[in-house]
Amino acid sequence: MAAWEAGDEGGGRKVCIASPSVVKGEGTGEGKERDSGGANPCAKQNMEERGSPDGDPARNLEQGPEGPETPIQVVLRVRPMSAAELRRGEQSVLHCSGTRTLQVSPPGGGPDVAFRFGAVLDGARTQEDMFRACGVRRLGDLALRGFSCTVFTFGQTGSGKTYTLTGPPPQGEGVPVPPSLAGIMQRTFAWLFDRVQHLGAPVTLRASYLEIYNEQVRDLLSLGAPRPLPVRWNKTRGFYVEQLRVVEFGSLGALMELLQMGLSRRRSSAHTMNQASSRSHALLTLYISHQTQMPPVDPGEPPAGGKLCFVDLAGSEKVAATGSRGELMLEANSINRSLLALGHCISLLLDPQRKQSHIPFRDSKLTKLLADSLGGRGVTLMVACVSPSAQCLPETLSTLRYASRAQRITTRPQAPKSPVAKPPQHLETELLQLQEENHRLRSQLGQMDPKASGLIGARVAWAQRNLYGMLQEFMLENERLRKEKRQLQSSRDLAQDEQRILAQQVHELERRLLSACYLHQPGPGPAPPCPCVMVPPPPCHALPPLCPCPCCHLCPLCQAPLAHWACPRRELHLPQLLASWQPLCWALRIHRPDMVPALMEFLVSREDVTRATHCPQKK
Ligand code: ADP
Ligand code: MG
Repeated sequence: MAAWEAGDEGGGRKVCIASPSVVKGEGTGEGKERDSGGANPCAKQNMEERGSPDGDPARNLEQGPEGPETPIQVVLRVRPMSAAELRRGEQSVLHCSGTRTLQVSPPGGGPDVAFRFGAVLDGARTQEDMFRACGVRRLGDLALRGFSCTVFTFGQTGSGKTYTLTGPPPQGEGVPVPPSLAGIMQRTFAWLFDRVQHLGAPVTLRASYLEIYNEQVRDLLSLGAPRPLPVRWNKTRGFYVEQLRVVEFGSLGALMELLQMGLSRRRSSAHTMNQASSRSHALLTLYISHQTQMPPVDPGEPPAGGKLCFVDLAGSEKVAATGSRGELMLEANSINRSLLALGHCISLLLDPQRKQSHIPFRDSKLTKLLADSLGGRGVTLMVACVSPSAQCLPETLSTLRYASRAQRITTRPQAPKSPVAKPPQHLETELLQLQEENHRLRSQLGQMDPKASGLIGARVAWAQRNLYGMLQEFMLENERLRKEKRQLQSSRDLAQDEQRILAQQVHELERRLLSACYLHQPGPGPAPPCPCVMVPPPPCHALPPLCPCPCCHLCPLCQAPLAHWACPRRELHLPQLLASWQPLCWALRIHRPDMVPALMEFLVSREDVTRATHCPQKK
């Protein structure tokens, strides 16, 4: 019991060294002064409450949190003498007086010491008595209302902690505990299911189960072999176990199976004081959420709502007394260290200046996971277990002192956010739809590569970069296309100009042909019309210039400019003309192939004309 003794100093103030007469006053209102009256008025009031008329102390424990500061509720259980102890002829040193006081009678005739708790149950009380008296139903109700509640057992090894919570150790693989011996946990599970059915409102139930073995957290419900899990902290959740499996269940049978699975995987060993000694602290948590509550943001996160956690601590032990060696000794040291850290936190929590003082919850995994139950926002019930044997008296006294002091620790249970103030129907529906959509989107997101948000971020960045690159490329291409278009437009303009010129040339050529034909046509007949009138001559810059001779470059009839063949001095232009006919022939072939024969005829006749005519200027 080294752990509990270590935090003992300064705690004696609350332990009464009571005379038998004072103890006698239990239940009558006498002896109030014994162990109440701590710094906490709530605690004092609670301690001063008398047992109910029917003698059931549970009546006093079936209330909600007493106020903003709620004391930890403590219940004491004294196990019966074991067969071995009876064989050794050991005497019980503990006697219950009424339903809430325990009297310790040290061997050798020393003064009796009395301790007062929320309820005290001796070895004659059954498991069902324990369940009814301890007040766990109150915690169950609070958990259903959204509070975070914890029940934990503590005491020396072999004092009956595991028995109280889950009944005697299983007699074989898969052999269930007989219903009459089922512990607080099984009974609470059954009660809770009954309660949920009567509530009518749909409730989702989930469970997790872990053990702290040699300062390592192991998942007792893990699908594979349990592996150490990290304990983390954040502002909203406080301390929590990462990657802990949280299993949803829909029936009492399924929950019992989860319990059996965890119990069978939990570490236990035999030593001289206990044949089935738990070698780890075990925490089973039930998560209760109403369907209107928001689903967890993180898939690994337990749902919002109430919580009911059962903690079966490994017992403190004196290595010399248990005869532990090797691995057992290592386990015992680890257990004692974490219990010492727990005792230290409890001592500091009792400090009236605690708001200024630092509570070293980080000293062990156990204190981290119990931080909320001890000093935070939870509602907590401690079940202190003691052995009646005189052999165990020092450890028993230590447990009783700590239990007594723990009653003065207060927590500040945080009420769930306005469960009564229901939103209007349409808002509620909208909220549910949004929740569903959110959930769906999250699960879709979850189906993406789980390794992650970093990768998603990188992809987005890449996509952005790529889009920007594509945009730049499009802009460049657009610029190229615009340039090409401009070039095409100017080519088209050039082509149009060319076409226009060619058309003019063709036109001119026609006109010339006609006039040439007219000039060379022999024979009588009516005078033909002037060729200049037949074809109005547009000015043509592409053709060779007209005859520069001032004597004959105008038509003598209409005074229009005449082509060289109509000019009496046309030989002067001949070399120039011959060179210039070639493009005209090509143009005519393309645009007026029907006129090509006429052109050929004209050229032949022109040769004749050229040969026969002499320009006077040449002379
Ligand atoms: P702890 O968990 O505190 O180390 P256990 O719960 O394993 O102790 O109990 C030690 C032994 O005492 C077990 O064999 C258990 O069956 C027995 N025992 C404990 N409490 C009771 C009780 N109230 N009635 C009958 N047997 C008990
Ligand atoms: Mg145990």
